[in-house]
Amino acid sequence: MRGAVIYAPGDIRVEERERPAIVDTTDAILRLPATCVCGSDLWPYRGIETVNGPAPMGHEYVGIVEQVGSEVTTIRPGQFVVGSFFASDNTCEICRAGYQSCCIHREPIGALGAQAEYLRVPLADGTLVATPDVPEADLVPSLLAASDVLGTGWFGAVAAEAGPGKTVAVVGDGAVGLLAVMAATQLGAERIIAMSRHEPRQKLALEFGATDIVVERGDEGVARIKDLTGGLGAQCVIEAVGTQESMMQAIRATRPGGHVGFVGVSHGVDLPGQELFFSEVHLHGGPAPVRRFLPELIDLIWSRTIDPGKVFDLELPLDEAAAGYRAMDERRAIKVLLRP
Ligand SMILES: [Zn+2]
Repeated sequence: MRGAVIYAPGDIRVEERERPAIVDTTDAILRLPATCVCGSDLWPYRGIETVNGPAPMGHEYVGIVEQVGSEVTTIRPGQFVVGSFFASDNTCEICRAGYQSCCIHREPIGALGAQAEYLRVPLADGTLVATPDVPEADLVPSLLAASDVLGTGWFGAVAAEAGPGKTVAVVGDGAVGLLAVMAATQLGAERIIAMSRHEPRQKLALEFGATDIVVERGDEGVARIKDLTGGLGAQCVIEAVGTQESMMQAIRATRPGGHVGFVGVSHGVDLPGQELFFSEVHLHGGPAPVRRFLPELIDLIWSRTIDPGKVFDLELPLDEAAAGYRAMDERRAIKVLLRP
């Protein structure tokens, strides 16, 4: 089968990979009608994360079940399913508490490489959620978004305790930040401030429910959020970048007693203890337990209440994955959909 492989920073190739087969009795094999490039794929692509290439790429997926292992009981061949970037049993104590991304049996999907024609998914019963039927083609991008960026933005909004009467600020205008705006809207937030300097992304943020746009960043961005909130800061701030600057911007834009939901994969972030101590903000984040939200997100997409697939602004054949990475790296595309 064809699949994307990283050899070194900036060097993505689509080549013949071995077609996956059942390894464990709890596995499923999916045929992938669509896959995509994640903002977090840019960390190794930019060499900020170590690359031990050649290594398969991709951790976001939807697909048709082709085959299941002998112990799989709820997932059947022919079903259309959505999963997340960590396989999870969905039965351990951590999963039952809603933190499937820290399941005691978790397995990272990224290591298996979802930017490909087929994918092996471990712990199929716990990991995969079937849609009511095989979806119409135009729903596929939105269901694919649920696999990571929507689920991650949603967790950011829940972790920041977005809800009725709340003012929510979102740091980061990538797909996760934009979909965090959508999540905050769905959760009933009163005011949603999107921090973005890029016009097409501002437009999408407004379409997803943002009420205000702040173009400043860093200390000036914090000052603007304070201006907009009576000098107090926002009750809820979602951090969707993962750098020192964005994390401090999020913490400083939050009022005492408020909540920061941080979902940008942290790189080189070092929090100053004394400032944190006196800030009196709640911090809650990490790799999103997307599995917790999948049934609800699938319902909202299936009923066409939300259309998170709008974050895909470039579609390419899988064979042109390298061009997709380049477009996202240069910020010419918000998110790239790949067709195997
Ligand atoms: Zn578990």
